[in-house]
Amino acid sequence: MQDAIAVINAGSSSIKFAVFDEQGSVLQRVLAGSIRDIGTSSPRFIVKNVAGKILDSKQWEEGALLSQEDATAFLFEMLPAQLKGHRLRAIGHRVVHGGEHYLAPVRVDAEVLSALEALIPLAPLHQPHNLALIRTLLATTPGLPQIACFDTAFHHTQSSIERAFALPRDITERGVRRYGFHGLSYEYIASVMVQRDPKLAGRVVVLHLGNGASMCAMQDGKSVSSTMGFTALDGLPMGTRCGTLDPGVVLYLMDALKMNPGQVESVLYQQSGLLGVSGISSDMRTLEASDTPHARDAIDLFIHSIKRQLGALAATLGGLDGIVFTAGIGENSALVRERVCLDAAWLGVELDQAANRAGVGQITTASSAVSAWIIPTDEEAVIAEQTRRVIAAA
Ligand code: AMP
Repeated sequence: MQDAIAVINAGSSSIKFAVFDEQGSVLQRVLAGSIRDIGTSSPRFIVKNVAGKILDSKQWEEGALLSQEDATAFLFEMLPAQLKGHRLRAIGHRVVHGGEHYLAPVRVDAEVLSALEALIPLAPLHQPHNLALIRTLLATTPGLPQIACFDTAFHHTQSSIERAFALPRDITERGVRRYGFHGLSYEYIASVMVQRDPKLAGRVVVLHLGNGASMCAMQDGKSVSSTMGFTALDGLPMGTRCGTLDPGVVLYLMDALKMNPGQVESVLYQQSGLLGVSGISSDMRTLEASDTPHARDAIDLFIHSIKRQLGALAATLGGLDGIVFTAGIGENSALVRERVCLDAAWLGVELDQAANRAGVGQITTASSAVSAWIIPTDEEAVIAEQTRRVIAAA
C-alpha cells in the first residue's frame, strides 16, 4: 500500500484539498478538489485527478447551508473511496498566522492549537477557519498527524528594522510588528524561479496577485521585505480588503462615524478593496469586463498601488533583476501585467506584448534589463513537502 499525504486549505467559504503520493522522498499529486460556497448559496464539491478528469462531484440543493463541520465530515467520508491503494500518513494544513513563535511547520496538539487560536484576532478572515478544521480532525482522527504550515514563516529572514513599526517598545515587545503573508506561495516561487532564469537568484519582486494580494522583495530567494505587515490587511488593495491605510482613518471611523470595532473590521476586511471602490465586485474578471467608471477606478487604484510598492521594494533591494507574477490575477490577467510592466519601464522592464498575451513564461524582451515572468504558484506542493519533512523527522 502506497503512503499518501493530504493537504487542506480551509477558508471561510471553501475547503480546497489535494492528495500527494509519497514515493520515498518524492511527492506526486494524485488528486485535487474543493468544496465551495460552504454556508452560502448552493455548495459544490468536485475532485479531479492530475490529468483533470473529474473523479466525483456533487451539487447540493440551493440554500442547503452546509456548515464547515458538515463539509469536513463529507470530505472524510468521500476520501477513502478516492484513496484506494493509499494509506494516509498525515494532513498538512495552511495556517495563515504563526506569530512570533512558529517559524517552521509543526505537528498540532492541543497546546499548539490553543497558541494558534490566540492569533485569531491577527487574521480574523482566515485563521478561525484554518483552525476549526484542525480541531475537528484532532477529535475525529486522533492518531493522524495534523501539521500546520504557516504563511508567515517564509518572512522570518527579514531584518528587525524591516519588521519594526515606530511604536513604543513595550507595544513592539508584545509582538506588534510586521510578519508578512502568502509565504507558502513565495516559498514555492523561490524554489523554482532560478531554474527559469539564473538572474532570479538576485534581486526579485514577486507579485502574488489573487483575491488576497501582496508583493515580496527577495534576495537569493529569501524574503527581504513584504507589503503585508501585522495582519493580512496591509499593502495592496485586495478583493475586499483595503490595503495600506493611514491609521488615522480607523480612529475617524470610530470617533466621528461611531463605528464599533466589529463594524470597522467588516469595512476593512470585507467591504473595501476592489469591491468597495467598484461597488460591483471583488472579482477582477468582472471588473475587466465592466465599462463603468467605478470599475475602472478600482483597477486603476490596484495598479497604482502596485507601482508605488514596486518602487519601494526595488529601493529596499537596492535595484531590481526580475519580477514574477503569480496567483489568479498575476497568472491570468494580461491587462494587469501589461500595465504593471509599462509602469515599471523606468526600472528597466521592457514588455514583450505578444509573450504577455500568450501568458506563459517570460514576458519581457531579450534585451530587457529586468526580466518579468509568469510562474504559476503551488502552495499545496509546499505544504505537502513541509508535512513530509515534519513526519520524517518525528
Ligand atoms: P486567487 O485568489 O489566486 O484564486 O485569485 C482570484 C482572482 O484572480 C480573482 O480576482 C479573479 O477574478 C482573478 N482571475 C482569475 N482568472 C482571471 C482572468 N482570466 N483574468 C483576470 N482575472 C482573473
